[in-house]
Formats: sequence, structure tokens, C-alpha cells
Amino acid sequence: MYDLIIVGSGPAGLSAAVYGKRAGLDLIVIEKNPMSGGQVLNTYEVDNYLGMPGMNGFDMGMQFREHAEKLGARFVEGEVLAVEDGEVKLVRTDQGEYRARAVILTTGAEHALLGVPGERELTGRGVSYCATCDGAFYRGKTAAVVGGGDVALEDAAYLARLCEKVYLIHRRKEFRGARILQERLKDLPNVEILCNRVVREICGKEKLESLLLEDVESGQRENLEADGLFVAVGIRPNTELCRELVACDEQGYVLAREDGVTNVPGIFVAGDVRKKGLRQIITAVADGANAAVSAGEYINRLG
Ligand code: NDP
Repeated sequence: MYDLIIVGSGPAGLSAAVYGKRAGLDLIVIEKNPMSGGQVLNTYEVDNYLGMPGMNGFDMGMQFREHAEKLGARFVEGEVLAVEDGEVKLVRTDQGEYRARAVILTTGAEHALLGVPGERELTGRGVSYCATCDGAFYRGKTAAVVGGGDVALEDAAYLARLCEKVYLIHRRKEFRGARILQERLKDLPNVEILCNRVVREICGKEKLESLLLEDVESGQRENLEADGLFVAVGIRPNTELCRELVACDEQGYVLAREDGVTNVPGIFVAGDVRKKGLRQIITAVADGANAAVSAGEYINRLG
């Protein structure tokens, strides 16, 4: 039996492993893929992590993992199927079962995909899911944002400060996002809103060149040239395995304060899977540290 099992090996999980090992905990990290780093692995360049400007996402993931390994963290491969509560926590995976006194859930979240041709091929080559992360690469260029929620509206406003031209593409006429954000966009001269349009195809050879748009009412198609496309059509927390275990909000994010303490004693949460305002590498890393400290205190109290 271990002191602590960390589920997931993105920045939150790896940070929890570093803090857990430094606190002297006997822990394992269970990861679905043998590549640690989570969403960071797919990021070509991370430009907003303090002290590491322009860091390649893959290298960053590897560096985080090496740090945890150097301190003695053990990594186990397996897909976690269930976490069961009790005096001893039981983690079932497709490779076997593990027991621990405490568990930190760091299963992350995934950006919803548009699901159109060209999207997967051009991700990281013009197609992005995070304006805060990648917006700076499109300074002085043309960017398009797709979506009609708060994130799409905020992304469009953020990009308008950097880009020469920003298109906001939405499949309906009414926006789901906050009225105040809609008003703000109307005042920005370099933002053009294209309503009732869907993206049918993302086109380009080596990198994004244009978008094939379709008017949902007339069916008319047009090509829109763009250097960057920011997909903001929602995010999905990876909480299928723990929705019955811990309290989640209506969208499935685990409810916990910054200390990572959930409503179930001994079950902690960190990173994008936690309900919070800003989902970034730096906030995930902070979450991991907090949750590991909370878990350490909990284990000490058990004696
Ligand atoms: P939302 O679910 O709010 O919005 C998703 C948007 O994407 C909707 O407008 C939806 O269209 C559109 N969409 C979904 N699927 C497709 C598709 N296949 N093709 C085209 N468009 C599509 O997600 P967000 O990521 O914007 O926000 C997530 C949550 O975070 C929300 O609760 C939001 O309020 C919150 N948030 C709050 C902020 C704040 O308070 N400042 C900032 C950012 C986020 P349709 O409207 O037609 O369904």
C-alpha cells in the first residue's frame, strides 16, 4: 500500500509528485500514456510559463517528469477505471489494482474539437485551442475564433490587441457568452463577427491557409484566409471516473478550493479538472503543489 496515488501525469500530477516526494511520501503516479505532460505535449511552444519563454511543450513535459523521477517518483502505466473510497482508497486500472491512503485526481480536461477535416492535421500548425497560450504567435496577422461562449468572446477581444484582423465565427445569431463581452467586441474596429456560419473544413498543406465556411441558412460556401484558428467550442473535464465519487459542478468539474480538498476525505484534486477560473500550466503546477501538501497533512493526521 502506498501513502499516495496520483492519477494523471500532466503538470498538476507531476508537480504533486515533486511536492509529495519532498514531503517524504511513498507515492506512485498512474498515467494513461507513458509520455508525461498532458496537454502540454501537444503545444509547440509555451511562451507564458515564468522563466521559460519559448519552451517547446514536449521538452517541458519531459523536463517536468525528469524532475519528479529524480526525486524518486515511480510511474505506472494504466488507464484508471475507478477510484473507490474507504479507509484505504482503491484505484482500479486496466493493468491492475493499487491501494493508498490518499489519492490526488489530476485527470485534466480536453478541449472540444470541431470535428472537421484538417483539424487534427493542422493542430499546432495554425489551429490552436488556447488564445492565451498561442495568441502571441499571430501578432500583426489574421486570426479567426470559432464559438459563441465566454471563451470565444474573450479570445476574440484578446486577439484583437495582437492581430491585425480577427474574425469571430459563430453558428447562430445569438451568443451564449456574456452581454458585456459582446458589447466590448462591437467597439473593436478590427473584429468582424460572422454569424450563422460553420467551419466545414480547415485547409492548408504545411500550415493553416484558409477556412471553408458555410452559411447555415443559405448553404452558401466561402473561403476565408487566416493565419490562425482558435477553436473555442467548449471544454470537457475528464471526470467520468470520479463523478460518482466526489462532488462536481453541472459541467463535471470537481468542486474544491485552491487547497485541492474535495468533499471526500483523502481524495484531492488538482489542475484543469478542478473548477476554477484560469486553466494554465502555471496554475496547474500551483494546484499540484497545494494538493500534495493537503494530502501530506491528511496522511500525517491519520498517523
Ligand atoms: P460554452 O459551452 O459556453 O460555449 C461553447 C460555444 O461553442 C457555444 O457558443 C456553442 O454554440 C459553440 N459550439 C459548440 N460546438 C460547436 C461546433 N461543433 N461548431 C461550432 N460551434 C460550436 O464554452 P466556453 O468554453 O466558451 O465556456 C466554458 C465555461 O466557462 C462556460 O460556462 C463559461 O461561462 C465559462 N467561462 C467563464 C468566463 C468568465 O466568467 N469570465 C470566461 C471563460 C469561460 P451554441 O451557442 O450554438 O451552442
